[in-house]
Amino acid sequence: MDIRELQRLDAAHHLHPFNDNAALAKRGTRLLTRGEGCHVWDADGNRLLDAFAGLWCVNVGYGRRELGEVAAKQMQDLAYYNSFFQCTTEPTVRLAAKLAELMPHDLNHAFFTNSGSEANDTILRMVRHFWAVQDKPRKNIFIGRHNGYHGSTVAGASLGGMKGMHKQGGLPIPDIHHIDPPFWFGDGGDLPEEEYGRICAQRLEDKILELGADRVAAFIGEPVMGAIGVWIPPRNYWQEIEKICRRHDVLLVADEVICGFGRTGEWFGAQTFDFRPDIMTLAKGITSGYIPLGAVMFNDRVAEVLATRGGELAHGYTYSGHPVCTAVALENIRILQEEGIVERARDHVAPYLAQRWRELGEHPLVGEARIVGMVGALELVPDKPGRRGFAEKGVVGTRCRDIALANGLILRATNDAMLLSPPLVITREEVDELFGKAWKSLDMTA
Ligand code: PLP
Repeated sequence: MDIRELQRLDAAHHLHPFNDNAALAKRGTRLLTRGEGCHVWDADGNRLLDAFAGLWCVNVGYGRRELGEVAAKQMQDLAYYNSFFQCTTEPTVRLAAKLAELMPHDLNHAFFTNSGSEANDTILRMVRHFWAVQDKPRKNIFIGRHNGYHGSTVAGASLGGMKGMHKQGGLPIPDIHHIDPPFWFGDGGDLPEEEYGRICAQRLEDKILELGADRVAAFIGEPVMGAIGVWIPPRNYWQEIEKICRRHDVLLVADEVICGFGRTGEWFGAQTFDFRPDIMTLAKGITSGYIPLGAVMFNDRVAEVLATRGGELAHGYTYSGHPVCTAVALENIRILQEEGIVERARDHVAPYLAQRWRELGEHPLVGEARIVGMVGALELVPDKPGRRGFAEKGVVGTRCRDIALANGLILRATNDAMLLSPPLVITREEVDELFGKAWKSLDMTA
């Protein structure tokens, strides 16, 4: 492989998502060539511990041959057919049924997409349709949260609350509002957890009352907010949110694109935080990132209205329920279940990971080390007791990320938070490797 030539071609022809492409062209992109378990190798031969599971997604780890074999077999048997023309395929039906079985309650009905963004686009249309066919066309407002992330399509980015994304392309689209999410560290963290949880949830009720419950269709949130920096809510937050949604007949949507498939300890974030969404969106861990796939799970109430009163569902993608993708998802779930990967991570690895992560929290550069299950963040600060961020956001975080990479560790940085989301198959020895490389990188950053 001629690395320099590939870098030249990359700079000349390839626009990278979520990147300053001019800066990247100067620096030269890193080419990844191979993965095994929790490690990936780059074209220069460096072995890197991937503490971010690609992009929160490689839950079963790299190099699982079974997933490739299932994909190859399905491509040979029937490479493609859709579910549009009164048809479908076996893996797609089996996956819908398997997901219904895995869901914590009556989220029994799957609609397939290619990505998490498309899953969130789907709910925007389907929820509005759900209310419209019940003669409530004005009940069409979505409430999301500032700094939430629900994808990069027009609807996904509008439901999300990332200011930088709203600036590009004139978002959000109309009838989407946002409230402040819980952010313990940023809000000073001096209230008792329950009280803080109630105060943050009350922001939703205040917004519903301001807009009128007859106008509010749904509330959407990530059980743990990932992209903004792994903001973990107070324990009671989601239960309070659910009560408010029920009081005002507002549908509750859990975006489990990151949290689903074991990331927060339980199979789904709604189980970790003990609440019952009406709709759940999934992607990433559904195939461990081996092939693109997203899904929306609807509960019986919503599905009944869509299926029996909604008329023709004027929504879908060429690749909704692509048989190769659904076959890979089934195999991925088989691996997760038969090898007890979620339970092993929750019971044997997560407690040790949390212990070592909190040790990193003792480093002078770290203001807070937060973690739930297999997802966490280190908040870097200039002055440890002051709990304030750096005056210029993101400079130190980016430096720490680059130093970690040079030390053989992939951690993502959002502003000055270093994010952790390793493959669920990480071992205790690899957790020690992670700790050693992270501590050294913090030392070199300070
Ligand atoms: N929702 C959440 C919570 C996400 O973190 C992401 C991606 O990171 C998405 C939605 C969008 O998923 P995708 O990138 O597959 O479109």
